Amino acid sequence: MEQLDQHNLRITKQRQLILDELCSVTSHPTADELYQMVRKRLPKISLGTVYRNLEILSDCGIIQKLDIGGTQKRFDGNASTHYHVRCSRCGRVDDLSIPPDFNVEKTASRLTRFKILRHRLEFTGLCPDCQS
Ligand SMILES: [Zn+2]
Ligand SMILES: [Zn+2]
Repeated sequence: MEQLDQHNLRITKQRQLILDELCSVTSHPTADELYQMVRKRLPKISLGTVYRNLEILSDCGIIQKLDIGGTQKRFDGNASTHYHVRCSRCGRVDDLSIPPDFNVEKTASRLTRFKILRHRLEFTGLCPDCQS
């Protein structure tokens, strides 16, 4: 029993740290990038643990998993609806401070009779570094 409590406590601490690291950046890191960040504070953590906790956190809606273009999934500490711009050359993903259009959800709901839970809008282009 004591073993289990310790185990849970450890998991919770790891998860909190992963969440803290993710929320401290706006770069929308991949699991690998986040693993490198978390490892500086928890050297013994494994990539699998980071992956697992990211899945749990995104399933709970605490963070967002961004399955936008690119080979690796990226993660976002900001779970609310907001838009992204992605560089098609280097893969950089920035937040875009355009207010989300929730009317489009109402329209989509009316047209499809779906209960719309969220929508996504992704812009693609070349970032300032890649334009030169
Ligand atoms: Zn770029
Ligand atoms: Zn974002």
